Amino acid sequence: MRIVLLGAPGAGKGTQAKMLADKHQIAHVSTGDIFRNEISEGTNLGQQAKQYMDQGSLVPDDIVLDMIEPYLNPKGFVLDGFPRTLDQAKGLERMLNDANAKLERVIQIDVPKDALIQRLLLRGRSDDNEKTIEHRLDVYQKQTAPLIAHYKELGLLTTINGAQDIEDVFEDLLKAAKS
Ligand code: AMP
Repeated sequence: MRIVLLGAPGAGKGTQAKMLADKHQIAHVSTGDIFRNEISEGTNLGQQAKQYMDQGSLVPDDIVLDMIEPYLNPKGFVLDGFPRTLDQAKGLERMLNDANAKLERVIQIDVPKDALIQRLLLRGRSDDNEKTIEHRLDVYQKQTAPLIAHYKELGLLTTINGAQDIEDVFEDLLKAAKS
């Protein structure tokens, strides 16, 4: 199963990706988690990423693409927080092609903006303050939301309602992943 979860910050991608990966015994690949790990280990990559993350901006595509390649196990994965730009999506397609693999489904977890802000403020991660939240939602609209049309055109997109209980979202996610 090779799946991408798409959604704004706070949509619940991380929670759902983890549940899906556990159920299907596939890798859960979160670029945000990888970067946070690199930062806590004090690596070069972490240092590079930190300045962007602190501002709520995207880490540049070339850095993200170099970083993610070894994580793309063609046997299966659920990608959480990647791709976030059209260039990343194209990079992903290239890397999968090279491995003779294809994306099977892109599932958009849709949550209204008001609910996203509420959730992010409750989550309280270091980049979840009022100043960066607005910016991150803007970045999502401008740079990531165009992926919705891109994957629709490729016939890969399913949208599910993320403004439900975690278990109900997961039920819809499982159905979408099978379709
Ligand atoms: P997340 O945990 O997915 O909310 O990501 C936290 C932060 O990590 C984002 O605000 C970005 O600064 C950075 N980040 C994570 N994934 C990506 C990506 N695919 N492209 C660029 N920046 C990313």
